[in-house]
Amino acid sequence: MSEQQFRQAIESGVPDAFPYMHPLMAKNYGQWDWHDRPRPGVLHHVAKNGDEIWTVRAGTQRQMDTGTIRKLCAIADEYAEGHVRFTIRSNIEFMVSSAAQVDPLVAKLEQEGFPVGGTGNSVSMISHTQGFLHCDIPATDASGVVKSLMDELYDEFVNERMPNRVRISTSCCQINCGGQADISVNVQHTKPPKIRHDLVAGVCERPAVVARCPVAAIRPALVNGQPTLEVDERKCICCGACFPPCPPMQINDPEHSKLAIWIGGKNSNARSRPSFQKLVAAGLPNNPPRWPEVSALVKKILRVYQEDARDWERLGEWVERIGWPRFFELTGLPFTRFHVDTWTGARYTFNHSTHIRF
Ligand code: SF4
Ligand code: SF4
Repeated sequence: MSEQQFRQAIESGVPDAFPYMHPLMAKNYGQWDWHDRPRPGVLHHVAKNGDEIWTVRAGTQRQMDTGTIRKLCAIADEYAEGHVRFTIRSNIEFMVSSAAQVDPLVAKLEQEGFPVGGTGNSVSMISHTQGFLHCDIPATDASGVVKSLMDELYDEFVNERMPNRVRISTSCCQINCGGQADISVNVQHTKPPKIRHDLVAGVCERPAVVARCPVAAIRPALVNGQPTLEVDERKCICCGACFPPCPPMQINDPEHSKLAIWIGGKNSNARSRPSFQKLVAAGLPNNPPRWPEVSALVKKILRVYQEDARDWERLGEWVERIGWPRFFELTGLPFTRFHVDTWTGARYTFNHSTHIRF
């Protein structure tokens, strides 16, 4: 292949989307009049000039091998006019310009094992953080949790039978990626790092590690005459930020690194204000390869929400209406002292940091 055939790399920002858009979408950009959903997984948009386009949405495993991507592209070429796009939840969407193309496309996707759904009041694909492929912090395999959970929630992806849309996210540490979601599964370290003093001097730049800690809990130290680090465990919030610049600060632990579930987050201001998630379950075992405890709990929360919420109530809106005591009663989740944040540690943490000042 000659050099001219490669697309020239753009070093900042994403490429211009217009050359890659379905021509009907490019032509009618900003000119759509109305839309509906003929069936779960299919969107139908009508432009002011009468142009119509159907979008078929399918779930993927997000982290895909090239063989799978080639298979999806071959489906696009044969059944969908050669255009695809990915949503922020790693669903793939195929666009077609006639209603007659929808059923054969859906049948082909289902035959190849890609579930069609994720629209309207369904549980759409889980948005998860990058995990081991791109990051050096993960305490667990976020994409593995997602795969296990979505296998369990398959029927809720291909149907629209929730009171409103449900957005789930997972994060493989507590500090960086992730956002507000109706249900969020997060890693929770419960013990400060154990330090491999024999390795620190040879591996870590100690000032960089000291600067990394958000609560100024790390300081230089000497152990057996060797320069190393120590952690003030009264301050440490077990966030794990010191591990990437200094792997001898070992915080991942099969027993003490747990998973927690938070609910009621909302990014949009539609119908009600955006809201932060709140902790509802902590200390769940990080139990690969199927994380059964996490799946069971998420399914239980969804079942109660489905049975008890009013039409169009988002999960957080439902809990705000019925009250948190009633939520714990209905779901049978234990309410423990860990759910109450008294901020007693703040005196030793937040105002001592060079990074966070309140
Ligand atoms: S959530 Fe944390 S560990 Fe996971 S990819 Fe983001 S920064 Fe890395
Ligand atoms: S970076 Fe996080 S885990 Fe490491 S010592 Fe500081 S608070 Fe504790």
